[in-house]
Amino acid sequence: MTTTTHKIWDPTWECADRDTVRRRQLDRLLETIAYVYAKVPHYRAKMDAKGLMPSDIRGLDDIRLLPYTTKLDFHETYPFGLFAVPPTELTRIHSSSGTTGKPTVVGYTKNDLNTWVDLVARMVSLAGVVESDIAQISFGYGMFTGGFGLHYGLERAGATVVPVSSGNTDRQFMFMEDFQTTTFISTPSYAAYIGEQARLRGLEHGKQIHLRLGLFGAEPWTEGMRARIEAELGVSATDNYGMSELCGPGVSGECVIAKDGMHIAEDLFLWEVIDPLTEEPVAEGEIGELIVTPLWKEALPVIRYRTRDLTAVTTARCACGRTSARMSRVKGRTDDMLIIRGVNVFPTQIEHVLMETEGTSPHYLLVVTREGALDTLEVWVEVSEQMFSESFNRMTVLRDLLTKRIHSILGISVKVKLVEPQTLERSQGKAKRVLDKRNIE
Ligand code: ADP
Ligand code: ZN
Repeated sequence: MTTTTHKIWDPTWECADRDTVRRRQLDRLLETIAYVYAKVPHYRAKMDAKGLMPSDIRGLDDIRLLPYTTKLDFHETYPFGLFAVPPTELTRIHSSSGTTGKPTVVGYTKNDLNTWVDLVARMVSLAGVVESDIAQISFGYGMFTGGFGLHYGLERAGATVVPVSSGNTDRQFMFMEDFQTTTFISTPSYAAYIGEQARLRGLEHGKQIHLRLGLFGAEPWTEGMRARIEAELGVSATDNYGMSELCGPGVSGECVIAKDGMHIAEDLFLWEVIDPLTEEPVAEGEIGELIVTPLWKEALPVIRYRTRDLTAVTTARCACGRTSARMSRVKGRTDDMLIIRGVNVFPTQIEHVLMETEGTSPHYLLVVTREGALDTLEVWVEVSEQMFSESFNRMTVLRDLLTKRIHSILGISVKVKLVEPQTLERSQGKAKRVLDKRNIE
């Protein structure tokens, strides 16, 4: 493993004191609001409906006067109705996956792309990437913002980029070995699969595998999952966050030094955390829905975007020396929450238990069914190869232990089903953790 120095990409903003950051945010916020009011009829109509003029916003807290923007606003104005520039002035268009109906369309001017690339360069620097790194991108390329976003950001940070894209595990390993890839970029679920495959193929660290860093994001994962991936791939793994509506990756990312929350690029994004039901701000450090206002976008300015992602934000200084606010791991999306017999369940709560318990693999699926009027949650989890070779009795002990632990966390009983290694479907992008059969049957 090569020794490297840690680089802070933009010390001016990443290490600024809070007053300086807030002044910067206010300047940019005022510009952003005047801009959307002048350029985007949809926002102007929403502000007019509330009797608001841009001049009514004077301080950062006044942002609360402004209406939220939701996914519905994107759908109602599909494809370009929220844009502040005509499509001909865009340099690039991306979109969300759009599994339900029309996808969310996002676009960038030349300046937007430049800022986005900087944001990702900052994020990868936080994660420890330096010029000598060879970075293999296993995010899908295409309309998804992940592949291209990481691609240009890593190039700007000086790394050597290997744009393999998602899937084709044999090729992933071939290039990883032949190019001596040091940095792996994917979803955490794909990284868990790659880790498992490396072990099953007998690939060894220092021989076929030379990875030192893993940059993972685009879906929720837990500390336990991090520990498993780090052990299997021999990497230091960091979490990073973003979403198409805000630009894509680059909104926030963990520093490899502390791995204690994702640093938000606060000079360019204004964050709020609210109770999703009452819409009131929560106290600092408490979990709520993240609301983000980008302060830099020309093509697609967005005001108070309701991300639906649940997280907690702290402004305490990080051990790495940066002062930027940090968001905790995303617990899940409000719309991914399962309600089982009146109890709210996030897949990450179950993943937490599974990963803390020996004998499980990182591959699981939650299956929800309805028997009569009663919802049933089944937790299917593959056991490790070692556990599978143990006695039936050991498996029963494991199943009972998991059932008990999940019950003590969620307060409801679930049915744990241990399945053989290699039986659940592997994902190459975002994992599908839930099979909700309640509306199908
Ligand atoms: P979509 O998944 O809606 O098609 P995106 O590809 O833009 O669109 O994904 C954005 C969403 O992915 C976020 O709102 C969030 O729910 C999830 N996500 C992104 N990064 C992370 C992360 N590090 N941890 C948890 N969830 C994440
Ligand atoms: Zn830090």
